[in-house]
Amino acid sequence: MSRHVVVVGSGVVGTFAAYHLARGGWRVTVLDRGAFGRGCSHANCGYVCPSHVLPLAVPGAVGATLRTLFHKNSPLKVRPATVLANLGWFLGFARRCNKKQMLAAGAAIQALLNSSRQLFADVIDAEKLDVEWETKGLLFVFRSQAGFDHYAPTDELLRDRFATPARRLDAAELMALEPALLPGNAGGYHYEGDAHLRPDRLMSELRRVLVGLGVEVREHTPVTGFAVANGTATAVQTAAGDVPADAVVVATGAWTPQLNRALGARVPILPGKGYSLTMPRPAACPRVPLIFEEHRVAVTPFASGYRLGSTMEFAGYDETLNRARLGILTDAAKLYLRDPLAEPVQEEWWGWRPMTPDGLPVIDRAPAAGNVLIAAGHNMLGLSMAPATGKLVAEVLAGGSTHLDPAPYRLARFE
Ligand SMILES: Cc1cc2nc3c(=O)[nH]c(=O)nc-3n(C[C@H](O)[C@H](O)[C@H](O)COP(=O)(O)OP(=O)(O)OC[C@H]3O[C@@H](n4cnc5c(N)ncnc54)[C@H](O)[C@@H]3O)c2cc1C
Repeated sequence: MSRHVVVVGSGVVGTFAAYHLARGGWRVTVLDRGAFGRGCSHANCGYVCPSHVLPLAVPGAVGATLRTLFHKNSPLKVRPATVLANLGWFLGFARRCNKKQMLAAGAAIQALLNSSRQLFADVIDAEKLDVEWETKGLLFVFRSQAGFDHYAPTDELLRDRFATPARRLDAAELMALEPALLPGNAGGYHYEGDAHLRPDRLMSELRRVLVGLGVEVREHTPVTGFAVANGTATAVQTAAGDVPADAVVVATGAWTPQLNRALGARVPILPGKGYSLTMPRPAACPRVPLIFEEHRVAVTPFASGYRLGSTMEFAGYDETLNRARLGILTDAAKLYLRDPLAEPVQEEWWGWRPMTPDGLPVIDRAPAAGNVLIAAGHNMLGLSMAPATGKLVAEVLAGGSTHLDPAPYRLARFE
């Protein structure tokens, strides 16, 4: 009989892990504390973006973060109380804001991004996923000449160090590529290798595929811990009873630290709250996904709709929907787009990104039990890194060779 693996968490990371494990011959059960795919993977911006190689921890990031403390409506917001309660995390972040560690983190992020970009194309094709997948790239738009010039060294770094070149566009070329923009922007960079899809469609399509592969999905079943004997988990504990398991994957995103005691580790993940607004396509809908880098707002045109998204708030596990944060999205869209909004608003949403101090996920065995694998902490790129993470998880549990070096994702880097 095939071995049984329990995947805790039905976000995009847990779901891709379940997919690769089921394809690898495991009997798979997915458990979630809430509804399937309704965590951070539900209404994010949908970018599958190999261009996003660099972590948040870059030289100068500490000063930029401190300045936001004094701006009421900054897209990046850090509550002083959250800093004080999580001083170790923020010091770890600050320590990594140097070129050497930025480049090392970038290489490890890129390995997951590039592998995932290819796997998305393969899995969408193989499983006939109807997820509004489009390969039109991602267009960074700069309003001011100063902002455009300021970004140039980053683009150079991506091109020269990470082999991720963009097409540089002057103001006229920008308008020609994207007529939905208002005139007057300084220019842009088009990362043509990026792609996008509709995240809620992805989650429902992956669920369809998993069920077809015989995977059992149990919703509204919070996991509280593991039964462990001699360093091996024998079952996953839930309020509805124990679920016997030969192996466990913990893909609980921003909630992961709530399982610290059971994992035998302090997994340094903080929730980084972001927002999105989903509408029908406006009359002058953008052709390509856009990022307004100076305002840190993203625009995603789907075949079936239109989404504004982004902002980042470190405010603990705060579940309120703050309309002022949504206002940051609409205000920015009005600055850049001819037709920035459409009626009716179909969804106002927030999600907790699972943020680590170095921008890298943890993909590693838990100290408490060798057959429990943590796969969490994908920061701002969980969608873009999920297929390769899922493949790596399945390879590690199979005990053979892995398609990526797992070393950069080990927990020990935080010791
Ligand atoms: C506004 C916004 C825009 C974004 N845009 C992009 C983008 O364009 N591209 C990109 O790559 N990324 C993007 N991201 C980031 C991306 O959404 C996340 O990195 C990703 O969704 C994390 O996936 P996950 O599976 O780890 O977590 P989640 O999707 O949050 O899933 C974790 C699941 O675990 C469950 N869970 C937690 N604890 C337990 C427990 N004890 N028992 C059982 N179940 C449990 C939760 O209910 C949840 O369903 C964006 C995020 C935001 C907020």
